[in-house]
Amino acid sequence: YAHRVDTFGTTIFTEINVLAQQYNAINLGQGKPDFDAPADVVAQVVQALQSGYQNQYAPGPGVPSLRKAVADHVARFYQLDIDPARGVIVTSGATEGILASVLGLVDPGDEVIVIEPCYDSYVPSIIMAHAVPVYVPLHPPTWNFDPDELRAAFSKKTRALILNTPQNPTGRIYTREELMLIAELCIEHDVTVICDEVYEHLTFAGAQHIPLATLPGMFERTVTISSSGKTFNATGWKIGWVYGHPDLVEGVARAHQFITFAVHHPTQEAIAYALALPDTYFQDFRAMYEGKLALLRSALDGCGLKYVAPQGTYFVMTDYSDLFDGTPTEFAYYLTKEIGVACIPPETFYSAEHLHIGSNYVRFSFCKSDEMLLGAKERLAKLR
Ligand code: PMP
Ligand code: GLN
Repeated sequence: YAHRVDTFGTTIFTEINVLAQQYNAINLGQGKPDFDAPADVVAQVVQALQSGYQNQYAPGPGVPSLRKAVADHVARFYQLDIDPARGVIVTSGATEGILASVLGLVDPGDEVIVIEPCYDSYVPSIIMAHAVPVYVPLHPPTWNFDPDELRAAFSKKTRALILNTPQNPTGRIYTREELMLIAELCIEHDVTVICDEVYEHLTFAGAQHIPLATLPGMFERTVTISSSGKTFNATGWKIGWVYGHPDLVEGVARAHQFITFAVHHPTQEAIAYALALPDTYFQDFRAMYEGKLALLRSALDGCGLKYVAPQGTYFVMTDYSDLFDGTPTEFAYYLTKEIGVACIPPETFYSAEHLHIGSNYVRFSFCKSDEMLLGAKERLAKLR
């Protein structure tokens, strides 16, 4: 096979899912809800499927109703003014949005800054674009970046920075001060930001998610990516979107038209409906996850896994160093096989140079039924 995929192994999510199934473990690994999308949203898909015409290709950039719903949603929550016709495209999940953004906005040989540990598709997307990743680490236990390390990552070759807030896997939500420093450096070095905000509605204990594009001078240099998978418990539908300044979205759209051309048509209409749900939907969604986070925290508190409470996402990074001597992968295998709870070891979220920083951590996901989280508590208690 091609050299560009030489370094790509099987994703950790697939590896852990197979292991969890084999050992009948409670799977708190992959961020995949085990509860359903809202019934009224599912009904919209069924209706769309039966309508006939939606069983054929959608317009390449996405159906007009969904592009308008994305624009209305960011106007409602962030007071951003987006042109639905030229400033939004619909992609096959955020994953395609990330790849299309890198392919459409970065040239071979350009440097792209990533803040790690990070979602595992960023670096492969950069590599497939023949660009060069440059890594800035977050430091545990609070997962802050060092401003000097961030500053030092910028060079004459820096073309883009991939930002993720709220951040998978650390649960960080960057503060306005942190975002202002990122913005200042990107403006100074004329860098484009690809901002992954798929967990935009998953914020806890009053933490505020601030889209980078709302900062002064950033709208014209940021494309923002989100996805229906997280906000509507519909990870299987793979409907995501990219929005921003039309000049940048044009580059993303040019790549998108030759990656997937268009994405699943009936689901787009349903997500247009879902994005327009009243504020109470988003409040109830957040409250449900606050409850699940409390259940996972109670499981962790009971067994000696240390963590700093996440500000957002449905993940918690935990430090197992008081309980186990070994690598994260060894601990994750031990936990799955012997204790019956699966989690994600973060090795693949790191470059080789910074792997040691996460060497005592594994990630747990709490987008799971309360029964599963309570079951995990019972099993994790055996760790002590
Ligand atoms: N970005 C982040 C930070 C994620 O956690 C995920 C979920 N796996 C994605 C992107 C991918 O989203 P989608 O399923 O919409 O492709
Ligand atoms: N975003 C989810 C996670 O980080 C799912 C990732 C995936 O399955 N590729 O767990």
